[in-house]
Amino acid sequence: MTKRYENGIFPSSKEGSLKIINTFGRYYKRVLKKRVKKIPLGISGFTCPNIDGRVAKGGCTFCENESFSPNLSKNSKKFFLNPESSENPILNRQLGEIAFQYNSTAERYRRLGYEKFLAYFQAFTNTYAPLDTLRKLYTKALGEQDCIGLSIGTRSDCVNEEILDYLVSLQSEGNEIWIEYGIQSIFDSTLEAINRGHDSASVEKWIKKSKERGLRVCGHIIFGLPGETPDMMLQTVEKSIEWGIDSIKIHPLYVVKNTALAVDYHKGKFKPIDEELYIQLIVEAMKILPSHLVVQRLTAGIGDSTLLAPAWCADKNSQLKKIRAALRAEKIIY
Ligand code: SF4
Repeated sequence: MTKRYENGIFPSSKEGSLKIINTFGRYYKRVLKKRVKKIPLGISGFTCPNIDGRVAKGGCTFCENESFSPNLSKNSKKFFLNPESSENPILNRQLGEIAFQYNSTAERYRRLGYEKFLAYFQAFTNTYAPLDTLRKLYTKALGEQDCIGLSIGTRSDCVNEEILDYLVSLQSEGNEIWIEYGIQSIFDSTLEAINRGHDSASVEKWIKKSKERGLRVCGHIIFGLPGETPDMMLQTVEKSIEWGIDSIKIHPLYVVKNTALAVDYHKGKFKPIDEELYIQLIVEAMKILPSHLVVQRLTAGIGDSTLLAPAWCADKNSQLKKIRAALRAEKIIY
């Protein structure tokens, strides 16, 4: 029988006939010999050019922004950062939020055996701010106890050479720096249909620029976007690999209340992907994924009353169980 775990390190997925998915946990266990976990942060003041009107209003059709970050309270949304203005009257509050959110979550994770952490700037578009503010927020997070780096969620139209150079400088100081781009689909017709506000060429360009500088890139992909065939979804995975992503997150498109997608769903214009097809696609995607790629997420769900459809997205644990079983049947260990 193939040995799956030896001296705290998982062997390459090529060993034996098993393909062992390089999860985030396994990756850091191998490279740092430590249990590393990301700590999600939702900081007041961040918004998105697809929401504030700079690119579009209303955001991506599926975006009900509060649902992306339970830490973000409605009251905090009075002031919004704007990359063209250096004004930031809520900086102190933001710094306090970083300390509070990071440390309260780190304490919980330490009890579960995690040793080091990445501060994950998750909610909204976390490079959509003046560089001076970004410097202060990122530096604050990096100074928290056991923080070894950052993972920064953003859009390809919200980075520039200056921001990437700054991230490279943080990396060259020994920090683990990841930048997470929403790819969603490589098809411009789909990006238009979801009101994404940028095209696929923009994502390709900034992923490649990030990679040229040696930054680690995670690509977010959605299966089940309007009008997409299974073949299109797998093409998005293939093309993203070609662009050079180091890591991938995939989730099904689900409909939450108070979104443009919910309106389409109620009118019968949008039909969510079936669970069975989603799982099949995940298996196929994992078959084509090079074994060095770090897999950070294979599904997502929302277990509260804001979920409209599909019902199977309410229970992430049950999804994961089924995905793991389907992968195991193909000798792929997740
Ligand atoms: S890019 Fe993200 S935050 Fe902005 S509208 Fe789309 S889903 Fe919402």
